[in-house]
Amino acid sequence: MTNDYRFEFRPYQRRFLRSLTTNHGNWNIREGIILRLTDESGKLGWGEIAPISWFGSETLEQALDFCRQLPREITDEIIFSIPDELPACQFGFESAWESELFSMPNDASSLKSAKPPTRLAPPCPMPHTQSYSALLPAGEAALNQWETLWQHGYRTFKWKIGVDAIADELKIFELLIHTLPAFTKLRLDANGGLSYEEANLWLWTCDNLKVNGELALEIEFIEQPLPVEQFQQMLELSTSYETAIALDESVATLGQLAACHQQGWRGIFVIKPGIVGSPSRLRKFCQQHKIDAVFSSVFETAIARLAALKLAAELSQNNRAIGFGIDHFFEQEETWFESLWNDL
Ligand code: MG
Repeated sequence: MTNDYRFEFRPYQRRFLRSLTTNHGNWNIREGIILRLTDESGKLGWGEIAPISWFGSETLEQALDFCRQLPREITDEIIFSIPDELPACQFGFESAWESELFSMPNDASSLKSAKPPTRLAPPCPMPHTQSYSALLPAGEAALNQWETLWQHGYRTFKWKIGVDAIADELKIFELLIHTLPAFTKLRLDANGGLSYEEANLWLWTCDNLKVNGELALEIEFIEQPLPVEQFQQMLELSTSYETAIALDESVATLGQLAACHQQGWRGIFVIKPGIVGSPSRLRKFCQQHKIDAVFSSVFETAIARLAALKLAAELSQNNRAIGFGIDHFFEQEETWFESLWNDL
């Protein structure tokens, strides 16, 4: 692309098929912004801003304000100087800028009707579903849903904990691990919702599953057991138990990622490309420090997902499943996506 682009954007809303329940509460509608850059020769670049403010990114309103105050024509300088307070915007604009979705319309009328891509052509050697981690519904519903996902090829599952009372969750967990087939990997995500004592109990429970040696099932890690402020406790827990800990909320943005690494975190980092910030700076950081990263979705559409998967393919070190097994939370994208740009 050349250096000047026409900039257009459209807000969108997608309703979850079933409410997404985490320790942060229920989430029913995913809102975001699709953006489009057109260079002087008519080539298009698509990007997506998909903030999760309760996870540490800007709010949708802040992202919209940023888009509204931009001129209709923007430059590289604008794209690469978006402030760190707007990490989802940094991702959306930079990934549009480097997007491989450019198409060259033949004439002005085809440009007018150019729509965002709704299907993912495989852009790079991406894993099939065995390398994706599928998100199970919270609570008992997990017991009924894993099988369908297994039949679709998933072998790594994530289950939310810290949602109900720990005694109830441990009972469901007991059922779940005896139901899941051998060679399954299970991730437990507390979203920072455990107390220090509860975190110890979960880690102890997972460690002892392994000691008994009866289960071929692997607890791959416990994700964000404690709130972000309790970094030192998580650091301590990570050396006290065999079960690995992954930081997620603690490393929502590049600044936090660098700070945790600098303070000695050598466990797993969950990276959500959609909100972490600038892709070019993320690349630099991962390449420099060779961190053990798990890449994960922010319930974005196909546009941000394509850019995020590209980063995951480039930067994954330890062949960990990527957390993009979330299609079953939405209707097929084609039903709503087409209408978004009808007015252009
Ligand atoms: Mg998480």
